[in-house]
Amino acid sequence: MGDERVKEEALQIIGAFQVLPRLVVFDLDYTLWPFYCECRSKREMPSLYPHAKGILHALKEKGIGMAIASRSPTPDIAKTFLEKLSLKSMFAAQEIFSSWSHKTEHFQRIHSRTGVPFNSMLFFDDEDRNIQAVSKMGVTSVLVGNGVNLGAFRQGLTMFAQNTATAEKNLKRWRTKFSQQSKSSPSEEKE
Ligand SMILES: [Mg+2]
Repeated sequence: MGDERVKEEALQIIGAFQVLPRLVVFDLDYTLWPFYCECRSKREMPSLYPHAKGILHALKEKGIGMAIASRSPTPDIAKTFLEKLSLKSMFAAQEIFSSWSHKTEHFQRIHSRTGVPFNSMLFFDDEDRNIQAVSKMGVTSVLVGNGVNLGAFRQGLTMFAQNTATAEKNLKRWRTKFSQQSKSSPSEEKE
């Protein structure tokens, strides 16, 4: 499937959802491209997973922000590759640095750079430990098995919509409980 065809399908998938993330964050190695960039040379021409480009361009067309969260120990190679692929300007934040934390630091930085709350973000990564740590922050996080593709993309948007619906339901429940409490409190004071 060509990039344009993937983009069209990704646009259709996005169009099926009423609730969308404000920012979609991608890992690099084994999420956007099928290699560890530390094992490559800057002089090479990298290639992405087959569906990645179409998905990125669909998000851009819909005005949905994008960012990178990578623990690569070679940010210079990663950034050179993003430039070679003409993707550099697409990302509102590019946090590429090795760290002991499982990307929680990356997400704190992305949040302060973009102002987008964690619960308005959707994240794709191929490592379970990152998914575990980042989802605890409130980010909808999707484990990819074979890079970002249309299937993972649809799954991510579905999970995001479900998480948002659950959060709204809980908020409504809490508000109802709170208003009942405040209604009953004057009578309690009389006792
Ligand atoms: Mg990775």
